[in-house]
Amino acid sequence: MKLYYFSFIILCVLSCKSDKEQVKTQAIKSTLASVPVSGSPIKDTVSKTKPEDSSEKTTEEDYEVRVKEQKETGKGMETNSARVVKDSSKYYIYITLDDGPQLPGTQICKDILEENNIKASFFMVGSHKVGAKRNNLTDSINNNPLFIVSNHSNSHGFDNRYSVFYRNPKRSLQDFIAAESKLNIKHKIARLPGRNTWAINNKLKGEKSAFAVAKKLDSIGYYVYGWDVEWKFVRGNVPVESATEMAKKVENVLKRGRTYLPNSIVILVHDRMFDKPKHADSLRKFLALLKNNDKYVFETLDNYFTVSQPSVSHEDKKKNKESSGKNATPVAE
Ligand SMILES: [Zn+2]
Repeated sequence: MKLYYFSFIILCVLSCKSDKEQVKTQAIKSTLASVPVSGSPIKDTVSKTKPEDSSEKTTEEDYEVRVKEQKETGKGMETNSARVVKDSSKYYIYITLDDGPQLPGTQICKDILEENNIKASFFMVGSHKVGAKRNNLTDSINNNPLFIVSNHSNSHGFDNRYSVFYRNPKRSLQDFIAAESKLNIKHKIARLPGRNTWAINNKLKGEKSAFAVAKKLDSIGYYVYGWDVEWKFVRGNVPVESATEMAKKVENVLKRGRTYLPNSIVILVHDRMFDKPKHADSLRKFLALLKNNDKYVFETLDNYFTVSQPSVSHEDKKKNKESSGKNATPVAE
């Protein structure tokens, strides 16, 4: 009889353990399935902030916990509290303007965007904010609900000395931090000078030489955005493509899905490209062409996740699966 009870207890223990392991294996599998193939998880950055008892948590989970904490505490990235549900029939356009405040380029761009009621994100450089005019201009952009001011470092990569800038991640991070108060940065959103590198959604993508700096920014709660398409310019701040060519480019890149997230496109322009009347007209025409397409919705980068990726949390993924079974809306990651 004793032997019977003993065997029964052993069996229970074994079965219980195997259940636990199954759950654990399942959790790991589902996490791996959701981790993108391209890009590297920001492992070492995350592990520094990870409590010891959460060693089983994936970097993705950890990242989401951090984003949630930031939202709850109001620290880090400020996002719109109202969750905007993505309309999959729409394309989301994120106009980003680099290197301001510059005169007259930044002022001209701001005026044109305002005329057209178009949202945009200005990636500004701390050291460019000198003098009353540029100070007032930066403040007026910061206070306009159409726009956000984001961090493009204080010195623009030690005055375009990129190889030095990206070899010294600690100093580079300090440079970004110095720009925060100067520009009155409200959203922890950054773009690296001279590098198309992304550090969002717990993965690094783009130019590897900038990964160390991107990780540093990520470790203090920043979202680092590169771009999907650039409106290029040459010496004398002359735009390379015409407005029509650029609008076509945007359309093609979106249709082919060659963007960081499906249905979303981050467009890079530089303020100074439009500092002459002829080129300012080109910007007007480009924006008019985009506005003409009723599938396009303009947004700022603080809404990149809420609008472009409403299913970013595990809770939402679960809901999606429950509501639409295997045909759930795919989550781009
Ligand atoms: Zn720049």
